[in-house]
Amino acid sequence: MTNATTKSIGVLTSGGDAPGMNAALRAVVRSALTRGVAVYAVFEGYQGMVEGGDRIRALSWDDVGGVMQRGGTVIGTARSAEFRAREGRLKAARNLIERDIDRLVVIGGDGSLTGANLFRQEWAGLLAELVATNQITQAVADQHPYLAIVGLVGSIDNDFAGTDMTIGADTALHRITTALDQISSTAASHQRSFVVEVMGRNCGYLALMSAIAGGADWVLIPESPPNTDDWESTMCEVVRAGRKAGRRDSIIVVAEGARDRHGNPISGTRVCKVLEERLGEDVRVTILGHIQRGGAPSAFDRWMSTLLGHAAVEELLSTTPEREPQLMGMRYNRIRSRPLMECVDQTHAVAEAIAAHNYERALELRGGSFEDAFRTLRTMVRALPHEPVPGRRRMRLAVLTAGAPTPGMNTAVRAATRLALDRGHTVLAVHNGFEGLVRGEIEEFGWMSVSGWGPMGGSLLGTSRRVPSGADLYAVARQLENHNIEGLLIIGGWAAYEAALKLYNERQQFPSFNIPTIGLPATIDNNLPNSEMSIGADTALNSIVEAIDKIKQSAVAARRCFVVEVMGRYCGYLALMSGLATGAEQVYLHEEGVRMKDLYADLTEMIESFQQGKRLSLVIRNEQANPLYTTEFMCALFEEEGKKLFDVRPAILGHLQQGGDPSPFDRIQATRLAARCIEFLTEQGEQHTSVSAFIGLQSGHIKLTNIEDMPRLVDAAAMRPREQWWLSLRSIGEELSKAKPQE
Ligand code: ADP
Repeated sequence: MTNATTKSIGVLTSGGDAPGMNAALRAVVRSALTRGVAVYAVFEGYQGMVEGGDRIRALSWDDVGGVMQRGGTVIGTARSAEFRAREGRLKAARNLIERDIDRLVVIGGDGSLTGANLFRQEWAGLLAELVATNQITQAVADQHPYLAIVGLVGSIDNDFAGTDMTIGADTALHRITTALDQISSTAASHQRSFVVEVMGRNCGYLALMSAIAGGADWVLIPESPPNTDDWESTMCEVVRAGRKAGRRDSIIVVAEGARDRHGNPISGTRVCKVLEERLGEDVRVTILGHIQRGGAPSAFDRWMSTLLGHAAVEELLSTTPEREPQLMGMRYNRIRSRPLMECVDQTHAVAEAIAAHNYERALELRGGSFEDAFRTLRTMVRALPHEPVPGRRRMRLAVLTAGAPTPGMNTAVRAATRLALDRGHTVLAVHNGFEGLVRGEIEEFGWMSVSGWGPMGGSLLGTSRRVPSGADLYAVARQLENHNIEGLLIIGGWAAYEAALKLYNERQQFPSFNIPTIGLPATIDNNLPNSEMSIGADTALNSIVEAIDKIKQSAVAARRCFVVEVMGRYCGYLALMSGLATGAEQVYLHEEGVRMKDLYADLTEMIESFQQGKRLSLVIRNEQANPLYTTEFMCALFEEEGKKLFDVRPAILGHLQQGGDPSPFDRIQATRLAARCIEFLTEQGEQHTSVSAFIGLQSGHIKLTNIEDMPRLVDAAAMRPREQWWLSLRSIGEELSKAKPQE
């Protein structure tokens, strides 16, 4: 037995595996080790805890190197019947006590977390029994009066209360969205219908969000069954009308737990049969199955799980062990803890509401944004807009994209167009940003003009970086007048916001600029004010992380340092978050600048680590980190000073970061933000006001900011917000990848 005053933490993954569990494990292990605390991995979930022996092993810093990019869980998971019985838990308690473990991080689903809570409640009794049967001494039992527990939810279903995202859900959405994109290209070629069944027994999250991201035509989820008994006719009508309106394919997404109003299951095969019979065409069904669970975790699952693992250890070590078990989750884009059992109970309440056919309650428990998403989807899937409501103001709204082409722009244009048409407005699409507006490149869009735009990268409208000034302003004013434009949606990055501000400031000179205007943040740089995540940044982050995975694999033979240069202009978001998601040893940002003494200190550390046997070092540099200490300079410096101990290679990722199909998150956000933008323009029109604003996620909520506030919110020279929420995460990344403690 180890010294009784030493704290030891145990960590296990249990229940269904989920991509991102390894990133959480790495963070738990390294956070514990840097705090001088031993950490034991319990292999194969609770079964390993019951069996003990070498199923419970201390892990070292290097044991969790190179695991973040791997899917599944490297310490294994299992279902354990033995742990369900008190006898099994008695053995488990003994195995923990033998190693002085009285703090646990449990990464699993609701079963695993419920089991953990029960184990904790029984702990004192189990120890008393071990004393009574002479398996441990009273003194040992006295040293461990409590079992402290922190739970992290590993579940691809995103079916848990208390966290906005569970570990693995974002990756599963990536898998499903890719599958839907692929299915729709073949379906469109043959004008076919496809039914795709996705996971989610009690939770329609994956089905609903993938339907939005994949531009599906119909979705069936457990929380909100069709509200008529004859749902088959409604569904077939929608599909038929869509075809008539010009759609080449129809995709129906069915959650595995989908049901009708009376609770009778609706399977993918059943939906397929209904469509075949009623539409008289060939329909194919694809059950995605375990593909949804596997593969490398997405960038989000890597960085969120890293933060969760780190926070779990802080919680376990900083609070008293008698504190009730906590769940570490992500709430409103921040890591938060909540009492574990409260979350478990609320999670069960959703399942119970569904079982009792109380669907209103189930939806309500899921929360407002889930309901909003469902409502938006129902409009988006319509073949044609609703009939206009008499008496409502109908506006002529212009939509344009400005700045660099960004993944998610098309998704936003598609959603804005359809939602605006559905409100009875006229949509005037402006090609090529403000340059096109100056030249009058304006086209009226109909419902089908944006068909199939959702999954496409770049900007199909065309975009430009031009910010109108001088004579341009006259031309813009004339176009707005000639086309009688009564509202403006500008989708884009810094240039788009600058243009919006310019038009606002020139309102006195140009009366036609007095129209409601709204900016929607779309830039991979993520450098816009009051917007925690702009559209495109998640896609770019995934592209960077995938590229770094490949770069790392190329280096197995030699000792090598890679200096990877990423975009972002003067904003270090992509550099810092990709560093967090890939375990980079060093990240250089413009926000902090780069000093020679820091470079030298980092270099010295790097040399030491290679001398100790390290084979690969990863350095990420924001493209504008320092104008003189360029990527080339850093490589030369490291190579020269490394004196053949290791070689150095630059990797300037370039434009691959701007391209690619938008990630599910970017598609979903683009749709949500566009919906709110259209609502805003409509409200302004109805009230005959002409506020100019921009939209963005703030603490996880969609909020509007008046354009007048932009100058005080930004550092104009560096073209980035004064406040950047993610900067505080820097020390965590550093702690987990750099500061290997002395063994
Ligand atoms: P998940 O954690 O993904 O929901 P399970 O429900 O299968 O997966 O739970 C995983 C393991 O957690 C089970 O095999 C069992 O060992 C343990 N477990 C689940 N529920 C309980 C419970 N009520 N009491 C004790 N152990 C439980």
